Amino acid sequence: MFHFSNGAACPSAPERNKGGTIRQKHSGKTGKKAFGQYSILQHRARSKRKVPRMFDSRKKESPGKRRLLWLSVNSSYSHVSLALPLIHAACGELPDWEWIPLETTAADDRAETAARLAAMRGDLLCTTLYLFNRNAVIDILERFHTLAPDCRIAAGGPECLGAGAEELLKRLPFLLAVFRGEGEALFPEFLKRFPAMENAGRILPPGGNAVFKTWEHSIPPAADPFFRTDRPFVQMETSRGCPMGCAYCTSCRTELRFKSLDAVAEELALLREKGVREIRLLDRTFNLPQERGAELLRLFRQDFPDLRFHLEIHPQYLNAAIRKELAEAPHGQLHLEAGVQSLEDDVQKAIGRNSRAEEVLSGLRFLCSCPNFETHADLLAGLPGQTMDSLFRDVSLLIETGAAEIQLETLKVLPGTPLRSQAAEAGILFSPEAPYDVMRTGTMSAEDILLARKLSRLLDLTCNHPALHEVIRAVHREKEDFLPEFLSFFLSNGLDLKRIFDLKKRFLLVESYLSGRNWKLPREVLAYQWLRAGFPPEAGPGAAARKAERPPEDALLAEGDPASREERETRFLRLDCGDACFWFAFNRRYAINRPAGIWKTPRKGI
Ligand code: SF4
Repeated sequence: MFHFSNGAACPSAPERNKGGTIRQKHSGKTGKKAFGQYSILQHRARSKRKVPRMFDSRKKESPGKRRLLWLSVNSSYSHVSLALPLIHAACGELPDWEWIPLETTAADDRAETAARLAAMRGDLLCTTLYLFNRNAVIDILERFHTLAPDCRIAAGGPECLGAGAEELLKRLPFLLAVFRGEGEALFPEFLKRFPAMENAGRILPPGGNAVFKTWEHSIPPAADPFFRTDRPFVQMETSRGCPMGCAYCTSCRTELRFKSLDAVAEELALLREKGVREIRLLDRTFNLPQERGAELLRLFRQDFPDLRFHLEIHPQYLNAAIRKELAEAPHGQLHLEAGVQSLEDDVQKAIGRNSRAEEVLSGLRFLCSCPNFETHADLLAGLPGQTMDSLFRDVSLLIETGAAEIQLETLKVLPGTPLRSQAAEAGILFSPEAPYDVMRTGTMSAEDILLARKLSRLLDLTCNHPALHEVIRAVHREKEDFLPEFLSFFLSNGLDLKRIFDLKKRFLLVESYLSGRNWKLPREVLAYQWLRAGFPPEAGPGAAARKAERPPEDALLAEGDPASREERETRFLRLDCGDACFWFAFNRRYAINRPAGIWKTPRKGI
């Protein structure tokens, strides 16, 4: 759902917006800049000039017009909220207003942002608050109000849902208005009446959340001049709302609305025309209803094979038509985020999600078996009824599915969600300030929650790294319940929430964990990955390889350059791994710091 506005990530994973954490291979494409836009980054480049223009208003004032400053605080440089183009498009022609945007990130200097805004001499400042930028925005607004007390301020965004609006007004009493829900439904009228708020109250609408009734037929944000295409990806909505009842989610049981397939196709064509190549759909559950999910996938495959799509998918709802479309998607066109959250039926029930673990797992296994796209699986820690044991079990099951990444996040108790109102009764303690992360539940102690965060870190360091993914799966095949012990081992070797281990150190730690155990395959896979990553063959796990002659003629090239085999100076190492023998060719003329080629033959006697 768009909340004045929501360009944020899907609430299937409520804290996804932690600074651009969706790991993508961005195209780095640059496009045309939307008119009148100005960023702190640009400001920095400009401030290196002889005459710093820090306090310029950036645009000449248009006489007789009111100045609307629009502040966007994004989670990272790559992320751009849709709020401004959506609201601007919904307002249409309002000749009395001049719109002046300022874009920054949550990590940028807040005092500098406030000073820049104050220098812009606005009549009204508008902004949106999300989980990831709330603290930064509040700080900026407080500073801005001190510098420019005459400028009115209005705020919206998911942080203003439910009791969030009252809480924000209490925190920032100087706010003129707080918008709750879809801002497009409220903003045009608000601007027409500005600054009069008589009889309206400062929270709009006074009860419930606004719904933009004509959203399906509205002008797409891509057609608005404030829509940006100079970032690695853009966001897009084809639907709003979600029929599911996850108690922790701001979209829980919200009215489902869809754009027609024709409208979606037109919007995609417009994006392509503007040079966009990567699109993140904000649709809450892309594959509900399933027939529409299949139709969208067909549209992407047939008419937009050159675009890449990042989708949120519920792995339980994959009928034959969706599976067929997924299997036929062009290689690399899709990237899927599968919302699992928990594989315990009791926990599912407690959060109102009511997924069935067996069906979720079966769907996820299918997704992970498709070689043409990558699937990440999302889990939450700190759900009601969840225990540390059940969390370890869930992670273990996800390792078995072969998900490319397991993203384990701590549950957030967001304003405006049923969970927020039920938390006290359910014995859930959470941080009173954003990001409202759970600190204790009836079934998980504060120590358990901390351990879950460290488990998440361990997954990122090991299981989620492509070079160690297969190693961890091999360990899992030897001992399904290895995780608690594996975590303890890493903790005793310095794992904490901040420390950075380089990849080589991680390999060596895993080698050390495996030593003394009669686990042949994990050690072989570790040695294979070590050599493949280009670490010194004579050291660490690579010592298992032996000098060898050229691979036999009938050996199959697994990867690399076949010509490297024929070079006189190429040297070879042979490694037995599972049911195969691998020949690694090293030749710096072909590849520095990695094998020039890898050949494979069946391993005799296996
Ligand atoms: S209510 Fe819908 S959007 Fe929210 S977490 Fe559940 S499935 Fe995802």
